[in-house]
Amino acid sequence: MSTIATAHIEIDENGVAWIDNTQVKVIEVVIDKIVHGSSPEELNFQYPHLSLAQIHAALAYYYDNQTALDAEIERRWREADGLAQKISDSPLRQRLLILKEARTKVKASVITYRRRKTHDTWHWCKNCSTWPTTDYEESFSRPAAGELCNECHGKQRAGTCHQ
Ligand SMILES: [Zn+2]
Repeated sequence: MSTIATAHIEIDENGVAWIDNTQVKVIEVVIDKIVHGSSPEELNFQYPHLSLAQIHAALAYYYDNQTALDAEIERRWREADGLAQKISDSPLRQRLLILKEARTKVKASVITYRRRKTHDTWHWCKNCSTWPTTDYEESFSRPAAGELCNECHGKQRAGTCHQ
């Protein structure tokens, strides 16, 4: 028996979210989105049998349930890590390596902002010469108030920012 979570998304008895009756799991689309940084239109190109509405519904479901789905993706990646060590060279291994890289990207996409409690400037590059290591406060979303560090901006533009 399955229940309908929202338009286009069905949850099976194991709590797994599927896109309508397409044999495609929400998590598969989400992993492709993360691995390739795909837009809904690009995902539509990868999954031509899904409608754009179905893809948007899958992504909306992901954002509504991000904590649980991220935990599941993490679990898969940990499994993939273990597998990758056993498999020497195969297309599967290539895919797993891509997943592993994507995992790093996901981690990096959660930006930590820090500022010293006595200063008004937020930093987000850990290699900034004034990255606060003591007496700081942290924010995990873009700070609404305060200045953003020029050096961090420069590093980000140059692609040398270590987040
Ligand atoms: Zn900085």
